[in-house]
Amino acid sequence: MKHASMDTRSIEELLAYDREHIWHPYASMGHQSVVYPVVSASSVRLNLADGRELIDGISSWWCAIHGYNHPALNEAAITQIRAMSHVMFGGLTHQPARELAALLVDLAPRPLDKVFFCDCGSVSVEVAIKMAVQYWHAIGKKEKTKLITVKSGYHGDTFLAMSVCDPVEGMHQMFQGILPAQTFADAPQCGFDDPWDDRYIKSFERLIREHHQSLAAAILEPIVQGAGGMRFYAPEYLRRVRDLCDRYEVLLICDEIATGFGKTGKLFACEHAGISPDIMCLGKAITGGYMSLAATLTTEKVSDAISNGAPGLFMHGPTFMANPLACAVAVASIRLLLSMPWQDAIRRIEGQLTAELSPCRRLGPVADVRVLGAIGVVELERPVDVVKTVRLCAEQGVWLRPFGKILYTIPPYIISDRDLSRVTGAIHHVVKAGAF
Ligand SMILES: *Cc1c(COP(=O)(O)O)cnc(C)c1O
Repeated sequence: MKHASMDTRSIEELLAYDREHIWHPYASMGHQSVVYPVVSASSVRLNLADGRELIDGISSWWCAIHGYNHPALNEAAITQIRAMSHVMFGGLTHQPARELAALLVDLAPRPLDKVFFCDCGSVSVEVAIKMAVQYWHAIGKKEKTKLITVKSGYHGDTFLAMSVCDPVEGMHQMFQGILPAQTFADAPQCGFDDPWDDRYIKSFERLIREHHQSLAAAILEPIVQGAGGMRFYAPEYLRRVRDLCDRYEVLLICDEIATGFGKTGKLFACEHAGISPDIMCLGKAITGGYMSLAATLTTEKVSDAISNGAPGLFMHGPTFMANPLACAVAVASIRLLLSMPWQDAIRRIEGQLTAELSPCRRLGPVADVRVLGAIGVVELERPVDVVKTVRLCAEQGVWLRPFGKILYTIPPYIISDRDLSRVTGAIHHVVKAGAF
């Protein structure tokens, strides 16, 4: 079936209004770069207003793991909206929240069995940090309020989340005096498969030893540093971090917002290291890309301390906490994932990405090609021209959006071999055309 398109005049009006009044992510008002009007999306395709179809190679920022307009997720949303779209969570509860919590508790590494639902990834990071600080406060160690992390990380755009993003890329300069100063170890230098050497953990080890008395928690993206540069690191690094956190009495927060729900080949990336954090953040793919929802999971040890200490309450409660519509779609999305041979799907994507992206090294100024699970990265030697790259890809019928020196794909898990080849073909095309 041909999808509805818009006439040229309506498209122009939309773009003109958008340019004048609507802010886009990490964009300026008035000098925006190009935006593409979309009218609908289905399976792995975005349907543009001018009638073109683009294969979405990045799953709408790593969320739409089942593709768009999925009958099972649509059905869950429609059924739930007929019952209730939203009710407050203060003093009320409901089955969608219970079902989602039960799935998360069941799937998450033990002993993470307490669930706090919130609006988006950045807020789940705020909640995680607040939990860590309240934990130490409750057990009488009020001086433990700071965080240790690694460079090249990304944890969101709210203030405490920003304070643990990479200090250079994360705009710390501009917000100096507002952002709390945190401790930054060197970014992990050991690739995913590199043989382990103790020198890799030296920077983190020295800093946690020096600062542990003031540290509430360490926060890291497990195994894959996403928006900070798509860097993959060795599971042993994460195991060492876990050991050091235990030794120096610092809680460990794993930010699985990008990595969760299968992207690295494991349901959660910390499974590569066989460790369990004290607090875990989930978001992005949790609703299969349908709407915003996030969750912060923690252990009984942390929840007991907070609940039994003063003030005896956890001081957070968003208006749309545990939104039933989002919870119902998340339940459907996770059940759908578990009902399919998702490990096989990801292995297939991983194999194809490895085979088809490796030749990029010979096509242009490529610094590195790396693949883990459903994540394929071509790192260039120079920053990419985003507008030009997006246009070149769109001309190939593919939607990609690079950042910095990073050209990457994280396709919906349902993508066919043929469509995935078009995505990798577009990446070849960009590298050859030299869009940087
Ligand atoms: C996207 C992301 C966030 C922020 O999530 P939002 O929903 O955009 O607030 C936090 N941490 C990681 C690792 C992310 O990839």
